[in-house]
Amino acid sequence: MDSKEIICIVCPIGCRLLIEKDESEQMGYKISGNKCKRGFNYGIKEMTNPTRVITSTVKIKYGLLPRLPIKSDGEVPKGKIPRCMEIINQVTIQTPIYIGDIIIPNILDTGINIIASRDMETF
Ligand code: SF4
Repeated sequence: MDSKEIICIVCPIGCRLLIEKDESEQMGYKISGNKCKRGFNYGIKEMTNPTRVITSTVKIKYGLLPRLPIKSDGEVPKGKIPRCMEIINQVTIQTPIYIGDIIIPNILDTGINIIASRDMETF
């Protein structure tokens, strides 16, 4: 693959980036279509080490709702996300839970925690 088009998701403008392999460039890729340096950095990261914040839910007992929204407190390598989701889907917690509480520490030894995205009192 010598070139790839992706949408930059760093800000709402959503620039369309064209990424071309180019050994003459310091990072090994030429990037065009970005309106700012953050788009360049995003394009390089997407080609070399793509990562994402995980957002999902876990089962919760005794709460107002049957599931609690959760997210990762940092970005997880994209290749590890399916395994992270398997772990997240096995978890059941109990109320009370408060926003920012750690639900799964250091998931898959990434140094990233899965945390609660909202409070949930016992119902
Ligand atoms: S390149 Fe810059 S301006 Fe364009 S979407 Fe990415 S962050 Fe926003």
